[in-house]
Amino acid sequence: MVITSESHHIDGSFRPSHSRERIPVVDPATEETFATIVDGDAADIDAAVRAAAAAGSDWAALEPSERAGHLRQLADAFEGRAEEMSRLVTRQNGTPISVSRAMQAQVPLNYRYFASLADRLVTEEPLSTSVGDTLLRREPVGVVGAITPWNGPQPLIAWKVGPALAAGCTAVIKPAPETTLDAFFFAEIATEAGIPAGVLNVVSGGRETGATLVGHPLVRKVAFTGSTAAGRAIAAACGRELKRVTLELGGKSAAILLDDIDLDAFRPFVASACSPNTGQTCRSLTRVLAPRSRYDEVVEAVADALRGIPQGDPNDPANFFGPLVSARQRDRVETYIELGRREGARVVVGGGRPDITIGFYVQPTVFRDVTNNMRIAREEIFGPVLVVIPYETEDEAVALANDSEYGLGGGVFSTDRDRATAVARRIETGTIGVNSASFPMEAPFGGVKNSGIGRELGPASLDPYLELKTIFRST
Ligand code: NAD
Repeated sequence: MVITSESHHIDGSFRPSHSRERIPVVDPATEETFATIVDGDAADIDAAVRAAAAAGSDWAALEPSERAGHLRQLADAFEGRAEEMSRLVTRQNGTPISVSRAMQAQVPLNYRYFASLADRLVTEEPLSTSVGDTLLRREPVGVVGAITPWNGPQPLIAWKVGPALAAGCTAVIKPAPETTLDAFFFAEIATEAGIPAGVLNVVSGGRETGATLVGHPLVRKVAFTGSTAAGRAIAAACGRELKRVTLELGGKSAAILLDDIDLDAFRPFVASACSPNTGQTCRSLTRVLAPRSRYDEVVEAVADALRGIPQGDPNDPANFFGPLVSARQRDRVETYIELGRREGARVVVGGGRPDITIGFYVQPTVFRDVTNNMRIAREEIFGPVLVVIPYETEDEAVALANDSEYGLGGGVFSTDRDRATAVARRIETGTIGVNSASFPMEAPFGGVKNSGIGRELGPASLDPYLELKTIFRST
């Protein structure tokens, strides 16, 4: 049976779409079209934005602590549906179910964290100034357009609508076409949890639908996660309209292995930090920088860590790698693997398709003899492809790590934590781990250079959703 969605989620319920265009949703493990969604048009976007605008004043008028209460109820409701959500996400994008479960488990924690920030939000305070009695106010910016990719759909929605709602904004979500059913399910959960009608709306569609949302005059802020190319187009559109925008974009992050590395301790990080979610994670450490004195040893350890890793049906918790999200994504990854061979790099593991006849699978692949100027070392592949690059000195390792147009993640691995931390301080990036792949959600996340503008998460998460207003008074 094909699930057919003829609607968007607007003003608290499913509403028939204006657009007649449809987009198929394909299960990447079976290659079956199991659903169709609407490719939303300008009338659909307008209806959703107007619903969000209409709900705005009541929502903004609540005390921040009341909005925090709503977010906690949303967190509780999400928790109760997390298993269903995990399966739905896996069906749409092929995320291995154990990874999907871990992602959905994070989401209620995110909403509770944003609730705690709402509790601490000071909406008005006196400011001592040279001209006397001044009030500083923090007011919600208004309607937020949240545009998300397919690879971690629910956390990436939470990182936008959580702070937006906490700050007193309302939102229209435009999820990726590959992962829209989970966004609709989320909207239902939110309605059941008592989020008032119009506060959260979901319009399905592709790039044009997203661009229409960005351009809508009532949208005051855009929060985007996705590719650098789309981020540039969105930033340009927001520039024309002088709209606020935050951008979480692509990456090509480095794992810097110092020469005292304990390779047995590093091995578990290869799959979890260098190629999580079958390599479809923005902060994957896809460039492994290895001291030349230990190059062969590192290549072997990295290859060995991926060699035996179970890949197959993403619904089977035994599999750590699944298919890629789409035939298009598989083609893209295979093109890069071919390119790497042509550039003179050598495949030490993988390099083709696994022995699975149906589904968009590519084997985890490791290249050796890679230099940092090869395209496979410079461009975001967004698949399970790692390159191992040799370096001579610690300074050269830092220079290679920084010689990238991206700056999203990173990792330094060493038996000496202080030495690794000193190297981490020198890397141009938004986040970097030291012997760790566990990013703390209470800390800011985002990138520098082509990896984006602004931060999500962390104590300042509400700031992009608040306007500062100064009221200066004489007696
Ligand atoms: P994408 O940029 O193609 O699409 C992302 C979303 O933007 C989709 O909803 C899409 O419909 C919409 N969109 C595309 N072009 C648009 C435009 N011009 N105007 C408005 N909306 C537009 O990205 P994708 O292929 O879905 O996701 C993969 C990319 O996302 C990778 O580059 C990855 O690194 C990046 N990503 C970044 C982060 C991060 O936090 N930095 C997290 C996850 C993914």
